[in-house]
Amino acid sequence: MSNDMKRCVFFDRDGIVNVRVVDGYVESWDGFDLLPEFPEVLRKVSAMGYVAVVITNQRGVARGIMSREAVDEIHTNLNALLERDHGVRLLDVMVCPHEKDSCRCRKPQPTMLIDAATKHGIDLVASWMIGDTESDVEAGRRAGCRTILVSAEPGETVATVRVGSLAELVDRIEDLLAG
Ligand SMILES: [Mg+2]
Ligand SMILES: [Zn+2]
Repeated sequence: MSNDMKRCVFFDRDGIVNVRVVDGYVESWDGFDLLPEFPEVLRKVSAMGYVAVVITNQRGVARGIMSREAVDEIHTNLNALLERDHGVRLLDVMVCPHEKDSCRCRKPQPTMLIDAATKHGIDLVASWMIGDTESDVEAGRRAGCRTILVSAEPGETVATVRVGSLAELVDRIEDLLAG
């Protein structure tokens, strides 16, 4: 690993950054409900020298439920809010707007992580992917990252680490990344 490469924490969006809409999509900024734990986690990983990139599937764009511009506006507003209220920011947000089985980028494929790594000079092996589904974990694993599954539901996982809640993630993130 060369010293000028960045270490990154990749975050899934819905269910990690904001409240997931069950059986639906966050269609606009009005419907975006930031989870209070996320800025805490972002502050801690930023203080440890990691950059942060959100990796999100937004199939509602392909289905015509919301526009790509609306999705981009959400992320512009999110970064402004994080910077204003918490003094932290995301380096980038990578979006797959495509239908299932129609592209190379939709998670669990690792393409969005690999593209972010190329774009920003990120060392994937020194990086982590955090998500609330096995699809997130699989994308991170295939990219060569270590992975954290945030889920209280029982079941098999290939994640490096599993935590039961976002509150537990806030408590343990520094130890996990340092370990
Ligand atoms: Mg999710
Ligand atoms: Zn895609």
